[in-house]
Amino acid sequence: MEREYALQIDRDERRPAMVSAVFSLVFIILFGVSDFVRLPLVDHFPNLTADMWGILASRWVAVLFLLGCLYICHRQRGASRAAPLSIAVVMTLTVCGAVSVCLYKRNHLGDAEFAQLLFIMGAFSPLGLRFRHSLVLAAGVVVTTFLLRYWLLPTELHGQQFNAMLLLTLIFSAVGGYLRERAHREQFLLRGILKEQASRDPLTGLANRRGLDEQLEAVRQQARRENVPVGLLLLDVDFFKRYNDRYGHQAGDLALQRLAARLDAFARRPLDMACRMGGEEFALVLYDCGAASLKDRADELCADVRALRIDHAPSDTCAFVTVSIGGVLLQPQETAWSALDRADQLLYEAKREGRNRTSVERRLPVAAVA
Ligand code: GH3
Ligand code: MG
Ligand code: MG
Repeated sequence: MEREYALQIDRDERRPAMVSAVFSLVFIILFGVSDFVRLPLVDHFPNLTADMWGILASRWVAVLFLLGCLYICHRQRGASRAAPLSIAVVMTLTVCGAVSVCLYKRNHLGDAEFAQLLFIMGAFSPLGLRFRHSLVLAAGVVVTTFLLRYWLLPTELHGQQFNAMLLLTLIFSAVGGYLRERAHREQFLLRGILKEQASRDPLTGLANRRGLDEQLEAVRQQARRENVPVGLLLLDVDFFKRYNDRYGHQAGDLALQRLAARLDAFARRPLDMACRMGGEEFALVLYDCGAASLKDRADELCADVRALRIDHAPSDTCAFVTVSIGGVLLQPQETAWSALDRADQLLYEAKREGRNRTSVERRLPVAAVA
């Protein structure tokens, strides 16, 4: 679940991470351009002081580095990239910001040190990082800013007040970041539960019709890639109305649950799936199941249901609960609706022929083979 959460964050926050990287790039370029207005660069170029070179280098190395990061992220489409990109952006802004702020300050050219607090807050923005990563990043911002100030500023300009502000900003941003992630995780869980409930049948625990549609689509695509056949069985309990009338609705529910458990056990492989279509009708998707084995498996399932030996005295076909089954092979371009419609026709053929039996397509229809 943690992995799923991380994947979702990366999916949702990849775009904001890219946008923030582009904005940061523009932001640094604008400051880089403003250096030429604010500093006596043009007149003295190239005989600049070490500090002037330092300011220029911090801006333009940061620009090149961010351009490189954006290029790599753009090339690696599909790969996880929001988190590494955000870390690179925040750390680049931190280093570039701290170096230029300190060099401006020690040359008495202005004091914008409080802008550095924004980078701590930036580490907790929704840009593809989980809270613990944001916390480490923000701590990295604080330590880097602190060390660069001690290295680049004379002692009288260190400013204990500012260091305290760095720590306080870290604490407040971390609390906010923690609360934001907690709310986000709750939302993620609720969305997961709703999605699960929306595609599951509450009585039997099997997938419902919606779940079947999703699975059929996924399976169809996989089967096309691997060039394997997919079988679809549609089952209907025989004379179930009489069963309810005789044994009561509650006993009917229990019978449906036992039947569903049997079906679920029958869907053994990872891409197989059992589903309750509604009422006393079920469906079974069988991956990599050709025409010959589809008939065998349908017969096996029909016998399995009888073997449950659920008493059904009023049935005309057997003393126990039985099912009729229609089976088709999924065509590569076919919609779920069309495949189910064909299976339904075969199911009613089985009903007409006396119930408690199977009616299965022997080979792919001509259109599908072509
Ligand atoms: P056939 O062999 O032609 O399929 O006859 P049938 O009686 O099974 O078919 P019919 O469509 O006439 O009746 C289906 C019955 O299934 C009616 C309804 O009472 C019962 N049923 C549908 N859903 C449920 C359920 O959730 N629980 C119970 N206990 N019965 C249900
Ligand atoms: Mg029915
Ligand atoms: Mg029925």
